Amino acid sequence: MNSKIKQSQKEGYSVGDISAGLSYSVVKNAIQKVMKVRDVETLGDHIVVQGGTFYNDAVLRAFELTVGKEVTRPNIAGLMGAYGMALLSKEQYEVNMDMTYVSTITKLEELDNVDVKVSHVRCGRCENNCLLTVNAFSNGKKFISGNRCERGSRKCYRKLKIA
Ligand code: SF4
Repeated sequence: MNSKIKQSQKEGYSVGDISAGLSYSVVKNAIQKVMKVRDVETLGDHIVVQGGTFYNDAVLRAFELTVGKEVTRPNIAGLMGAYGMALLSKEQYEVNMDMTYVSTITKLEELDNVDVKVSHVRCGRCENNCLLTVNAFSNGKKFISGNRCERGSRKCYRKLKIA
């Protein structure tokens, strides 16, 4: 991807053209490969988009032009998954009031004793060679950011050589 962008810049394409191309690429990938939709007409007339990617106006417009319809983007597009999980949790809690629930959320008094060690490592699994930031917490949990795809995420943590 990076090399294609550099090539386009060398060929004189404007930033706007390249940005538009990337936006269409994101949308087409989502529709064809993630959602596996062959005919955009099957999406219906009232479409709501969600996910942080849709905070990007260019991606939103590329989606509208691709499906040929105006779509609704909630102002909490990037938080819709969390809201959905919160609603599901509330629903499950209310249906199973007789159960005992144990929260795994760190307690307020424990937060004072949390120690975080930050280190950096290159993923090295593709040409992007993302610089990963590894936050290692004193309770043994780790959080990785800086990855541009799932391969560099926590799932693959053990396979990465992190000091
Ligand atoms: S995190 Fe993904 S995009 Fe980044 S270097 Fe690793 S494999 Fe490549």
